[in-house]
Amino acid sequence: MALTRRALIEQIGRVGGAGAAYAAMEMLGLAAATPAGAENFALPRAPKVSSVVVLGAGIAGLVAAYELQKASYRVTVLEAADRVGGRVWTIRGGDRIVQTGRPDQRATFGPGLYFEAGATRIPSTHRVMLGYARRFGVPMEVFVNTNGSARWDFGGKVRPERRMVADMRGRLGELLAKAIDRHALDSIASKDEIAAVRRFLADYADIGPDGLYRPTGSSGYSIEPGGYAQAPVPLQPLPLGELLSVASRAPTPFFFEEKPNMQPTMLQPVGGMDRLPRALFDQIKGAVRLSTPVTAIRRSGSGVRIEHRGGVTQADYCVCTLPAPLLSAVPNDFSPAKRAALASVTYLDAVKVAFEAPRFWETDDFIYGGLAWTDRLNENVVYPSDRFGAPKGVLVGAYAFGWTRAENPDAFAALSFADRFRVARESIEALHPGRSQLLGKGISVGWRQTPWSAGAGALWNDGSRGPRYAELLRPEGPIVFAGEHLSYLGQWQEGAALSAHEALKLVAAMARSKAA
Ligand SMILES: Cc1cc2nc3c(=O)[nH]c(=O)nc-3n(C[C@H](O)[C@H](O)[C@H](O)COP(=O)(O)OP(=O)(O)OC[C@H]3O[C@@H](n4cnc5c(N)ncnc54)[C@H](O)[C@@H]3O)c2cc1C
Repeated sequence: MALTRRALIEQIGRVGGAGAAYAAMEMLGLAAATPAGAENFALPRAPKVSSVVVLGAGIAGLVAAYELQKASYRVTVLEAADRVGGRVWTIRGGDRIVQTGRPDQRATFGPGLYFEAGATRIPSTHRVMLGYARRFGVPMEVFVNTNGSARWDFGGKVRPERRMVADMRGRLGELLAKAIDRHALDSIASKDEIAAVRRFLADYADIGPDGLYRPTGSSGYSIEPGGYAQAPVPLQPLPLGELLSVASRAPTPFFFEEKPNMQPTMLQPVGGMDRLPRALFDQIKGAVRLSTPVTAIRRSGSGVRIEHRGGVTQADYCVCTLPAPLLSAVPNDFSPAKRAALASVTYLDAVKVAFEAPRFWETDDFIYGGLAWTDRLNENVVYPSDRFGAPKGVLVGAYAFGWTRAENPDAFAALSFADRFRVARESIEALHPGRSQLLGKGISVGWRQTPWSAGAGALWNDGSRGPRYAELLRPEGPIVFAGEHLSYLGQWQEGAALSAHEALKLVAAMARSKAA
């Protein structure tokens, strides 16, 4: 009789446990995430009554609990914090912000205003998160990620983004045109190709027949096009040296929107990112125990025994979504290899600052959404994409994530709140002279200082992730693992959700082999 792939995996699972089943799934290509159509994920119905304890109620834990419950597993979720969402944290007026080792802060935003301390934007390629938004009727709106009118402040020079990007293209086009005109490329491309490139440079980079870059408007104007006699005068191009001095220090802003997962326009839930975890939470409310930190993870017979504040929870399976450094510190029965792998993962920090303010960036400067970039410690100023034209908005005055320098998040995190606010105010003053006085009280969140967080996300410098990543994916008997750190979409909600789906496939495989 021909052995089906499913039967084969079940047999391997029975003999070798879930780890062997996973290895077999990998070999058969079944363990690979399937992003196309991933929004339709559904777990097969539990073959018999089975209980699952989910550790953590961030996106990975909530997705896991929702899908398990839908497939008729009996689910308990243990969450240390007094809210769900984890690294999705929308702060509204009245909310208390606790940061370890720092004084508590209280947000005083007016009604309808909010600050995304964590996740902010979703690209249209993140089908799982957008799929859940659709499934639960969470409305989405545009998040403006790139705005040519937003300004860059590097080396003390403030320039609009469109000028920097267009002039860089123009100056590079000029170099290429010179190389072509001096026949430097004749030996590496055909005559026809070279001629086609030279023609393309005219439209692409405003390169004239003389090989010089002459801006025609993409970089902005010194005299704007107007009515009647007001003919436009394009800005003079910036020298290549100035552009390269920015690029050599911070290349990313020149092509930010083209980075994987970034887009010029992205999406955000109307009303705040936490509408997504809350929508998941609404489906499983009864199963979630908040303010219940896990204190030990033990195997018990063929199941698990989880010790936590207020008692012990036993279950057949466990989906563990705690960030690696936090999990590493929880007493457990894991293999030495797993413990070593967990202890080896480092997390990147991220620090934000936010102010409520009248929307001077819109009324004075016609900047509607988008990001300003700077070589100061605050790295980014993020303009709100919600409620254009409202009297007030929340201006993110700092988003230090290592965008321009890897050391910035740690250096910014080390500052007192007052110093962080000063850096952010000075940066906003440079971008919008005379306007920083309109900023309200600042609030700041650093992700290593946030309780129950290890930082913004796992840092995997090795593209292949290597053996310790493979070790982290391996179940410990009935315990499977999920979280953004176990995905190739790290530091994104999508990665957390996709990893949860993978972990659930393992639970389903184990439950099937147990029932067979
Ligand atoms: C500043 C910042 C910006 C970001 N921007 C974006 C963005 O724009 N778009 C996007 O999609 N993603 C973004 N992300 C990433 C995204 O927020 C995360 O990848 C995702 O939310 C991680 O989900 P998770 O479930 O893996 O982990 P977490 O959200 O960290 O969930 C883990 C949960 O475990 C709980 N926990 C910890 N210890 C214990 C314990 N001992 N017992 C019980 N519970 C415990 C925690 O409280 C937490 O709720 C950003 C993240 C940060 C920090």
